Amino acid sequence: MANCVFCRIVAGEIPSTKVFENDEVLAFRDIAPQAPVHVLVVPRKHVDSVQGMEEAGVAAALLRGVAAVAEKEGLKSFRTIMNTGAESGQTVFHFHAHVLGGRKMKAMG
Ligand code: AMP
Repeated sequence: MANCVFCRIVAGEIPSTKVFENDEVLAFRDIAPQAPVHVLVVPRKHVDSVQGMEEAGVAAALLRGVAAVAEKEGLKSFRTIMNTGAESGQTVFHFHAHVLGGRKMKAMG
């Protein structure tokens, strides 16, 4: 999708630090990390958010990507966040999961 930063990363038009990739997803380091490990897992195909998901397989692929990132980064404990909508804090409207680890997390608020 034009003007989507994550589509442009998937297309290789914007550089990223890749952590994992397969045919369905790409995982790369967040540009503004909130933890020692902060990786984003995005489907290659554009979907705005979990609400725009037409195929359940996208969710499975995303979660398999999360697990692959955790294994690659040696994380035994980590937090996975998927923001949906501006009020939740979603700023990039291309479905993605944050994988945060490497420090003790505070309780959710
Ligand atoms: P969210 O706020 O859930 O939509 O998450 C979007 C995330 O994308 C934020 O944590 C940003 O720091 C991150 N981000 C935005 N642009 C880039 C980029 N070019 N490379 C890596 N991460 C990015």
